[in-house]
Amino acid sequence: MAAAYSAYDDHECDYLFKAVLIGDSAVGKSNLLSRFARDEFRLDSKPTIGVEFAYRNVKIGDAVVKAQIWDTAGQERFRAITSSYYRGALGAILVYDITRKSTFDNLKKWLWELREHSSPGTVIVLVGNKSDLTHSREVSEEEGKKFAEAESLCFMETSAMENVNVEEAFLQMIRRIHDITRLQKQ
Ligand code: GDP
Repeated sequence: MAAAYSAYDDHECDYLFKAVLIGDSAVGKSNLLSRFARDEFRLDSKPTIGVEFAYRNVKIGDAVVKAQIWDTAGQERFRAITSSYYRGALGAILVYDITRKSTFDNLKKWLWELREHSSPGTVIVLVGNKSDLTHSREVSEEEGKKFAEAESLCFMETSAMENVNVEEAFLQMIRRIHDITRLQKQ
């Protein structure tokens, strides 16, 4: 069972890995990250442009792993995400907004780009965010599940705003990465 340390902890860790957030603009990537790393949520959109990342230490069994999660911070608006963004990433959280079908339709494009730039073993978790906005839902949970199954991805609906499943989505990715890393070390 994984337990998480508080944000910005800087205990000794057994190893560090990089993971990236991807998906269309305004699907909630930054808020998912700030919820996971600092337990914060912002109603306004962030003004900053450029790559940002946050760290969080997670204890899994006897190991402490440091997850370094990168956020596009608006670069996707200009289709300006470069290969260095993906380089070395062991995991990815691919996000769409359940209230905007176009963000779901663009998943294939994101997957293609991710697979083009990352290694074949990269752990990918598909996240349908804004599950609190049930009245304006345009993508059913079933559609999300089906897409994830067809593409062999983990799947979860989340609400960064109400803090539903955010921890679970990140931890699912982190645990899988840990399992793979441990097997490779043996
Ligand atoms: P990004 O461009 O993908 O990083 O998206 P942001 O994190 O900046 O969020 C875009 C907008 O969606 C902001 O106005 C957020 O407040 C809002 N938002 C993000 N997550 C949620 C959520 O889970 N529920 C609701 N209702 N709004 C959200």
